[in-house]
Amino acid sequence: MTNNQEKKHHKIAIIGSGPAGLTAALYNARANLNPVIFEGMQPGGQLTITTEVENYPGFEEGIQGPVLMDIIRKQAHRFGAESIYKEIIEVDFSKRPFTLKTYDDVHTAEAVIISTGASARLLGLESEKFYMGYGVSACATCDGFFFKGLTVMVIGGGDTAMEEANYLTRFAKEVIIVHRREEFRASKIMYDRAKKNPKITFLKNKIVNKVVGIEENGRKSMTGVILQDTKDKSLTEYKVDGLFLGIGHKPNTEIFKDILDMDETGYLKVKPGTTFTNIEGVFAAGDVTDKTYRQAITAAGSGCMAAIDAERWLEAQEH
Ligand SMILES: Cc1cc2nc3c(=O)[nH]c(=O)nc-3n(C[C@H](O)[C@H](O)[C@H](O)COP(=O)(O)OP(=O)(O)OC[C@H]3O[C@@H](n4cnc5c(N)ncnc54)[C@H](O)[C@@H]3O)c2cc1C
Repeated sequence: MTNNQEKKHHKIAIIGSGPAGLTAALYNARANLNPVIFEGMQPGGQLTITTEVENYPGFEEGIQGPVLMDIIRKQAHRFGAESIYKEIIEVDFSKRPFTLKTYDDVHTAEAVIISTGASARLLGLESEKFYMGYGVSACATCDGFFFKGLTVMVIGGGDTAMEEANYLTRFAKEVIIVHRREEFRASKIMYDRAKKNPKITFLKNKIVNKVVGIEENGRKSMTGVILQDTKDKSLTEYKVDGLFLGIGHKPNTEIFKDILDMDETGYLKVKPGTTFTNIEGVFAAGDVTDKTYRQAITAAGSGCMAAIDAERWLEAQEH
């Protein structure tokens, strides 16, 4: 082995740098395991695309998502964790040490923690990206509170959209569910619950054409949404204060397909109550294993579990 190759062997490699990955790194670093974190295409994870985070414990006044992630990263680095700003494009978990490939190099690791998260499905509009965190959101639990007494739209026709809409009626004065088709994909029980809610109305056969808003003194906020009718193609602007995307999430697990056990929607399976995957020495934490809670604090909590599981597993290997 050359020196260069030697440098690329790690005791613990963490794939993903959201709350789960960075918390795992913090714990493993404090256990003197010098973990490396492959930060991937979104260093800091999903919270870097939001603004105010008010439900992460420890910040009485709330904190900006990107700032929070920077703090956790610095906290992990302080104890010796190292960030590698690359994406893992291929893994070989068939033998130990495990192999992880990036676009331009290869790393090996005795244990691996997967915290590649999930991505909220977006519409793919420039204006949606522009107002993300300034009226546009992909998480009602996270941002519903900001819309007290206001009017919001929820996009989608499945259970996620119905659930988000129902939750939002706790705050908003009016919630409009917008669906591109006539029929809803949601289960009858979820659809009925939404239909019975006096604050919820429905707009069918409509798609979002554009999110509109204002920008004053460097501050932006959305003021409405232009919807296009899928039948007659007409455009109508609706004055709403918020737009919630309720079109689901996609776990970032493509590179683990046919390698790790997943459920039918691609979420990694772990042994209940632990972070053990079906391959010994490979652990998983955060949104990549969780389609129920999907919060920064639950991701961080399971990142801590993965770090402890990996530490104890490594220790057991040495004896
Ligand atoms: C707009 C928005 C607002 C939110 N607001 C809140 C809030 O207020 N409060 C709250 O608790 N939660 C909030 N959430 C949810 C919260 O962000 C997530 O639950 C949390 O970030 C999940 O953390 P995670 O570590 O599992 O993964 P993620 O944050 O999804 O991070 C995944 C990481 O994996 C990396 N990655 C993926 N694939 C690879 C690869 N192949 N190689 C290397 N790296 C890879 C990415 O680069 C990223 O760093 C919000 C989410 C969104 C989208």
